[in-house]
Amino acid sequence: MNQGPFSVAVIGAGPAGLTVAGYLARSGVRVTIIEEAVQAGGRLNQLSMLYGRFDQAQSLRQRLLARLDEGKVTIITGASVTGLREEADGYQLMVGGESLFCHAIVVATGWAHECRPEEHGLCSTTRAVGLSQVAEALRLPVKQLVKQWRAKRVAFVLDVSNPFSKVATATAYQIALTLTEKLAAECYILGRDARVAGYGLESLYGKVRRSGVLFLKYEGQRPEVREDDELFTLQLSQPSLGGSAVVEVLVDQLVLDEAVIAPPGFSSLAAQLGIRLAQRGKARGVFFGDDTVSLEDTGTDRAGIFLAGGARAQMDLEETMLSAGAAAARVLNYLEIKPEAQAKVEESLCARCLTCVRLCPYQAITIDYYRSAEKAAARISERSCRGCGSCVAACPARAIELLETSDAELRASLGGVSS
Ligand SMILES: Cc1cc2nc3c(=O)[nH]c(=O)nc-3n(C[C@H](O)[C@H](O)[C@H](O)COP(=O)(O)OP(=O)(O)OC[C@H]3O[C@@H](n4cnc5c(N)ncnc54)[C@H](O)[C@@H]3O)c2cc1C
Ligand code: SF4
Ligand code: SF4
Repeated sequence: MNQGPFSVAVIGAGPAGLTVAGYLARSGVRVTIIEEAVQAGGRLNQLSMLYGRFDQAQSLRQRLLARLDEGKVTIITGASVTGLREEADGYQLMVGGESLFCHAIVVATGWAHECRPEEHGLCSTTRAVGLSQVAEALRLPVKQLVKQWRAKRVAFVLDVSNPFSKVATATAYQIALTLTEKLAAECYILGRDARVAGYGLESLYGKVRRSGVLFLKYEGQRPEVREDDELFTLQLSQPSLGGSAVVEVLVDQLVLDEAVIAPPGFSSLAAQLGIRLAQRGKARGVFFGDDTVSLEDTGTDRAGIFLAGGARAQMDLEETMLSAGAAAARVLNYLEIKPEAQAKVEESLCARCLTCVRLCPYQAITIDYYRSAEKAAARISERSCRGCGSCVAACPARAIELLETSDAELRASLGGVSS
């Protein structure tokens, strides 16, 4: 590999692309982000209140943009990649008729979704709407929302088009809470299984329950839906009530989960970059990479081309940031640059559970048994740590922080994060 300065192209300016760019720029890499939309921010531009680690989409977007070193990061909006030529030490990317040289590429194009009423037994002219459409509508200021939102009884049907999705389930919880608290709506959540393990999600679930939202679990068949002029009637079997008990729910608005699909231009981008696409099981969508998913798995089968965030798999923002950290670490490793961000252990919190030791993809962590039994704690090798952040997320004692992005710093700058 040539000596620096190095240039990296990031395709997509959502949370993943912006996070990768921030990490790389702080390690001295020049980054060009190519974004096809008119502004940076990805899905954050369509959301308001967030579940999980971050609370407001707009403050997170501003925070991510503010972390970009202006001298080192250029964002080209309204542009897309139209061609690629491999060179001895990198790639020439064609972007809007211009040629851009880069030593490595990170694909951070996220995923898209599609509301499929027919999968829920409804026709295409239905009044039912998709989860993301409601999430987007809730960006309005409360006063305006109160004037515009009519429905008093709302049901969410999950696990039909996007089965067992943590993102869909937690999004439905967040929306139902907002509708209940701000618009006094009566909400029902119908799902097969609640998969909401993650930072702050147990507390969100508790809040949703206490707010009066009713949860109805169904097994086997999806709920039967009938649509009349004003009402939707849902019928679902409840074996837990004994025999063939059927529960009926009448609502004036139905919200459907949505299928995960590839963003427009996904296949041609994959063809131009010469990387593979994979189907993540039935109804799980098409993503870049092979068909195994893990947060560290940010590589492709083409040297110097990496994946970050939702381009790799359906994931929430916390997982997206971790995936972006891991992708940046992989790029720096590939370019043979020592990263700026390093993890550190708060020894008094370490329970010596070995989780981080087993997980670190760079074997950078050991337990310091040379010290007295009470003082022994995880120790991170400065030489080996690539700042990927995997150990930070995995530590059950929350004993590890990335020096550049401490939890406390992030919380303070976001003005209070969900518990
Ligand atoms: C309705 C909904 C609500 C959600 N709510 C939450 C929440 O409350 N909390 C949470 O933790 N997570 C939430 N998520 C998940 C969160 O949105 C994702 O984790 C996150 O957006 C993934 O970031 P990303 O950068 O990978 O993708 P995106 O945010 O989708 O960004 C991808 C970017 O790439 C650009 N792009 C795509 N293709 C190209 C191309 N060919 N060339 C150039 N640019 C391209 C796009 O325009 C976009 O700007 C939600 C998801 C949905 C669908
Ligand atoms: S995961 Fe956390 S508690 Fe467990 S050994 Fe590592 S630092 Fe200590
Ligand atoms: S951040 Fe943690 S998991 Fe990642 S390389 Fe450093 S020590 Fe290993």
